[in-house]
Amino acid sequence: MVADVEVSGGHWIGGERVASAATFDDVSPIDEAVIARISRGGATEAHAAVSAAAASSPAWASTPPTERARLLHRVADIVEDRLERLAIVETIDNGALLRSHLRGVMPRVAHNFRFFADYLVNDLHHPDFETRGHHNHVSWDPSGVAVLITPWNAPLMLATWKVAPALAAGCTVVLKPAEWTPLTASLLADITKEAGIPDGVFNVVQGLGEEVGDALTGDPRVSRISFTGSVPTARLIARSAAANLTPCSFELGGKSPFIVFADADMDSAVANAVEQYDNAGQVCLAGVRLLVEDAVLDEFVERFLARAAAVRQGDPRDLATDVGPQISREHFERVDGFVRRAVTAGAEALLGGGPNEQLGGLYYRPTLLAGAAPGAEILTDEVFGPVLTVQSFSTEDEAIAMANGTEFGLAGVLFTGDRARAERVSAQLVAGTMWVNCFFVRDLRAPFGGSRHSGVGREGGTWSFDFYCDVKNTCTNVDRWTP
Ligand code: ADP
Repeated sequence: MVADVEVSGGHWIGGERVASAATFDDVSPIDEAVIARISRGGATEAHAAVSAAAASSPAWASTPPTERARLLHRVADIVEDRLERLAIVETIDNGALLRSHLRGVMPRVAHNFRFFADYLVNDLHHPDFETRGHHNHVSWDPSGVAVLITPWNAPLMLATWKVAPALAAGCTVVLKPAEWTPLTASLLADITKEAGIPDGVFNVVQGLGEEVGDALTGDPRVSRISFTGSVPTARLIARSAAANLTPCSFELGGKSPFIVFADADMDSAVANAVEQYDNAGQVCLAGVRLLVEDAVLDEFVERFLARAAAVRQGDPRDLATDVGPQISREHFERVDGFVRRAVTAGAEALLGGGPNEQLGGLYYRPTLLAGAAPGAEILTDEVFGPVLTVQSFSTEDEAIAMANGTEFGLAGVLFTGDRARAERVSAQLVAGTMWVNCFFVRDLRAPFGGSRHSGVGREGGTWSFDFYCDVKNTCTNVDRWTP
């Protein structure tokens, strides 16, 4: 039994905790114990949160940028002070590694706020230029109320990728965290209050997506919707947003290729390939389709299996653990269904291939499947678990065709020692992010997002900032001023 995490399960609306009569259970993936009871919001709470955000919008929009930036830095300070608490609560709630939360994820949460605070003050350029005696001035006007709908695989990290630029841009926010991981959004609400963010500027509505979603995304007072999640949900949100033509930013799934050419540094390629099991494979960016040049296929697989054998699966609170559990029973069954169907259809599990029976619960063994037939669902559909496939290719063109052969276009990972080849192949892959001889290096100045069904728009730096603003050009005939 996981200890009670003692985090409020209420909504955060207008600077106050608001409870709903109905609740749902928040279950820890570590042992499937109930750790909190969460308010189950609906249209009433959604409406109240948008009202609070709309009411506080004019004052926040006209707060000087330096003051907004100061408050966001204050949020980052408190996140840093509370890093361990945020890390352990997130681990208990979503089952991702405590080690990663402590060392990487929570420091990045603070960085998200610092980055956009600094961007607002230092990097936002207001270009002025002349056109035949007319003066053009570009300004970034806050658009109003941003609804942010976020997923469970990296809850606070992905939420703050949206919250920080939205607040920096002068929008007020309604955050709807995933129902499987509601807790750190609740902690963030307390932090914003302590930091001095005015009431109503940041709001959280808890609840099940299908019950609260429409009321948020179809509200005509909402000026922007940013969503990270699945393709079917994105379609529902787009439909709901269409009534008001509300601009949407979507960061969706992936089925990214991980290409290894024979001339690659094999140690590095193998080490990075095994890293695709991080977060128990619940990473949209993961390079899950290993495409290996046939001359090195046997060597690669042998070395991959040797390295993967050292991966330790277990309780994510143990700092020695490498791979934790799946997020929920429902998701676990879904992952297992993919693997079973693949094996029935003729694929061979070179590694794993089923639940970790020693650990029980939601622990699914890191799995490597070979021999899937071209077009098989295991090669085209997003599994979102610790399941990789391996295929071989013989020419560069074949590798490119295989890499591009899904409806997604989120990321691509490429290992080669040949610089010209790296440039040629990268240029031809459909992907929002290409990693060449590396993986997961991410700078907030870079654009992030996907093509095709992997998304609409980009996040990061100027792309996030522009999205939350109504960019305006003011063109003035300067000859017409009264002297
Ligand atoms: P996943 O399959 O990864 O759980 P979802 O797309 O279902 O992804 O969920 C991502 C986020 O979208 C969650 O916060 C969820 O509550 C929310 N969501 C689900 N359905 C809807 C909906 N109809 N409208 C708005 N948000 C929704």
